[in-house]
Amino acid sequence: MRPATRAVHVGRPPHESDEPLNVPITMAATYVAGGDREYGRYANPTWTAFEEALADLEGGDQGALCLSFASGLAAVSVVLDLVGADQVVVAPRHAYNGTTMQLADLESRGRIRTVLVDLTDTAAVTAACEDAALVWLESPSNPAMELADLAAIAEAAHAAGAYVVVDNTFATPLLQQPLDLGADLVVHSATKYIAGHSDVLMGAIVTRDAELYDVLKRRRDLLGAIPGPFEAWLALRGLRTLPLRVERAQANATELARRLREHPAVVDVRYPGFGGMLAIVLENAAVADVLTHSTKLWVHATSLGGVESMFERRRRWAAEPSTIPEGLVRLSVGIEDVDDLWDDLVAGLPS
Ligand SMILES: *Cc1c(COP(=O)(O)O)cnc(C)c1O
Repeated sequence: MRPATRAVHVGRPPHESDEPLNVPITMAATYVAGGDREYGRYANPTWTAFEEALADLEGGDQGALCLSFASGLAAVSVVLDLVGADQVVVAPRHAYNGTTMQLADLESRGRIRTVLVDLTDTAAVTAACEDAALVWLESPSNPAMELADLAAIAEAAHAAGAYVVVDNTFATPLLQQPLDLGADLVVHSATKYIAGHSDVLMGAIVTRDAELYDVLKRRRDLLGAIPGPFEAWLALRGLRTLPLRVERAQANATELARRLREHPAVVDVRYPGFGGMLAIVLENAAVADVLTHSTKLWVHATSLGGVESMFERRRRWAAEPSTIPEGLVRLSVGIEDVDDLWDDLVAGLPS
């Protein structure tokens, strides 16, 4: 079966009389003893349905295992917990800033050592891999929209004995399957495209390595950063339409990127050619702030991957690195009519 079919059909109760079509929301703090579930922090049937569906999309024919978490950053923290004191994490200088802040926090407390790299410089990244225990990748990167050569970096990292993790939030499993390119772990902020409606926070880790899965499952059991059953249900409901939403957002983003490239006020358009995320660079922060405060349709908000178009000037956040231009606006293109999106956007740009 192809991904659009899988997204609709995987993670459902069996087709048997009186079974519901959708997995119910199981509200349970504990289970009657004697089975495998035991307690609400260890297992929940609504999580399991979501995990089966996301594992199926990331794993394809070869399959995979998935663990869901309370948020994307909860998943990130469990992965970074694989690294021992004084071991090196190679990470992008431009990445989701919650991840880079988490790395900096761990480093400041002597828990890990971090080497930041320019993801687009494959030779520099592969050289940095030599001392690494874990290589963190994000491609396309947030918000610079840079691409990494995942296969080449994974090969170098494995030669050095390091784990390779790819944050696949921007691309979604429909546009990129990092496990097939050599990643050991895929991390998602399911808050974004997977749930897709800006109404739930959730995260996930996907892997084909059963031993690694067991280690991470034990970490989740112990640390307790579990999703609520209703959140898992909403995320699964969102995942059913992921292929449709990604297709439409990508078509809109492609067209907006084309039009923006011809606009005299736009200094640079960063669009990797796939997906619904893009960044534009305007002349300065003031011009960018006028845009983000003047639109009617585009929502000024810090998230992405929802059905509604959103944008923000990333340097409004103190934690965003100074190598991100002051006038860079990150656009999360939604599924609205592209001409309405264009009219609203262009009205906020200098003519
Ligand atoms: C939002 C985001 C995260 C963090 O996810 P939360 O669900 O907000 O905790 C991680 N990585 C990327 C690329 C993101 O965009």
